[in-house]
Amino acid sequence: MSHVKHITRRQSTRIYVGKVPVGNNAPITIQSMTNTCTTNIPATVNQIKALERIGVDIVRISVPTIESAEAIRLIKKQVNVPIVADIHFDYRIALKVAEYGADCLRINPGNIGNQSRIRSVVECARYHNIPIRIGINSGSLEKNLQKKYKEPTPQALLESALRQIEYLDKLSFNLFKVSVKSSDVFIAIESYRLLAKQIQQPIHVGITESGGARAGAVKSAIAIGSLLLEGIGDTLRISLAADPLEEVKVGFDILRSLRIRPRGINFIACPTCSRQEFDVISIINTLEERLSDILTPMDVAIIGCMVNGPGEAKFATIAVSGRKKSSSLYEDGIQLHERLDNQTIVDQLEKHIRRKAHKINTTHHIDIKTITNL
Ligand code: SF4
Repeated sequence: MSHVKHITRRQSTRIYVGKVPVGNNAPITIQSMTNTCTTNIPATVNQIKALERIGVDIVRISVPTIESAEAIRLIKKQVNVPIVADIHFDYRIALKVAEYGADCLRINPGNIGNQSRIRSVVECARYHNIPIRIGINSGSLEKNLQKKYKEPTPQALLESALRQIEYLDKLSFNLFKVSVKSSDVFIAIESYRLLAKQIQQPIHVGITESGGARAGAVKSAIAIGSLLLEGIGDTLRISLAADPLEEVKVGFDILRSLRIRPRGINFIACPTCSRQEFDVISIINTLEERLSDILTPMDVAIIGCMVNGPGEAKFATIAVSGRKKSSSLYEDGIQLHERLDNQTIVDQLEKHIRRKAHKINTTHHIDIKTITNL
């Protein structure tokens, strides 16, 4: 579409989390975090596999104990995505989990302790050639910064990040990415803007503790969407008090909405009213569920009547516009002779969409694996 905004991304260096590139114009990656008990290896592996099925790029796992570090070793053997080990308080766990194969260490230097401990973690990451994420969080700023700024302002988050970055610079360690997360949309956006002006390394964007599935998705979309539009963000996580699968789905929804990393169907549907000729809500819900395996980027419009249907259909890959008894079907903006019986419209639409996805893949030689890795 001609009106699609072209986003110029911030230039950054590149790191690799496992084999996944982050930064320097690599595709923006979607992360999530397991919420199983890490030492419950089957449950954690199952959750990671479920996340892999819906396209997660990187998974973070909490490593609160040495036992959970040992669990990572076994988990790593059973999954494909790179694993980021999330370490708080005890730097010795970081050393252990790096030895056990973690692909990245996420530390919050504010709670790791003195500089010699941070130094040990850095030397360990260097030895294993794995990156670090410096994860600054408004809820766990260093005490002296809390005292200095009174509250977690963007400047406080930035200062915390720059302190750690400076220390890593002194150690000549460049393999890191940085996040400055706040649960407040305004603070998060401003913190990331300040950070982006100061560093070359990749930036991990997110709203921390954003809330439940709906409100958290909205907050994250506003903050992360704003930053991405400004070109800030190389990887992201949506932090929801919900099933981690939701985090990945919302992450891809944000990227798809901005046409940054089109993957799967972009559904367009009207909000419905008494003019609708078929049950739009039930159809959209069913199709979203049934067609979640389609990775081909395409726009599908489900519009309940002829008021807005033909207009939306002009720009959709496949569209249906509600009419009495049988509805109008469109492909690539052109109305087809075929009409869809309103009684069986879901099944027919599914068939058409699948056929179209197959046609696009064949015509453009799109390899589904390539789409997954976009
Ligand atoms: Fe109502 Fe038609 Fe608008 Fe849908 S497109 S909300 S059915 S007027």
